[in-house]
Amino acid sequence: MSHLYAIAIGSNRPHGRYGRPAGVVEAAIARLDQEFGLFDASPIVLNTAHGGAGRDFANAVALVESDLEPADMLTRLKALESDFGRRRGRHWGPRVLDLDIALWSGGKFQSHRLTIPHAQLGQRSFVLEPLATIAPAWNLGPLTVRHLAHRLARKRRRG
Ligand code: AMP
Repeated sequence: MSHLYAIAIGSNRPHGRYGRPAGVVEAAIARLDQEFGLFDASPIVLNTAHGGAGRDFANAVALVESDLEPADMLTRLKALESDFGRRRGRHWGPRVLDLDIALWSGGKFQSHRLTIPHAQLGQRSFVLEPLATIAPAWNLGPLTVRHLAHRLARKRRRG
């Protein structure tokens, strides 16, 4: 039986071929589509660091279908990350591409390497906001992704 995964994609370093972080995230979505069945991908959210010299952050979430169990999915995602971070055997940097498992259709999953839902999901607007554009009704216990996104936005407004 196949599983549905919500994969959080992030980049804050440019890549030699794909360019700025938004280009890296776009290329990662295309790669996920090749490797798995891609159901949907959110718009890419850009956060330009304030103060001029800071780094750009680009984030998105993709919904993919796979027969892989979570541990094997993590291994595949790590291989993809290092593909993007490496050229001719050299590392560009660990943060060229970051792929996390935000949610999967199996509900809760816990092992020494992996916690799903992702432990920081409720605090990360750069994951919840794009996720809410493609899977607002996904249930996490009594609350949905949309509820969590609203709750976080409200907290931020109130400081
Ligand atoms: P980071 O480089 O900060 O993304 O951390 C990656 C490590 O966090 C991985 O090697 C995993 O062992 C661990 N991890 C725990 N939960 C998750 C998750 N839901 N998705 C991805 N990595 C996770």
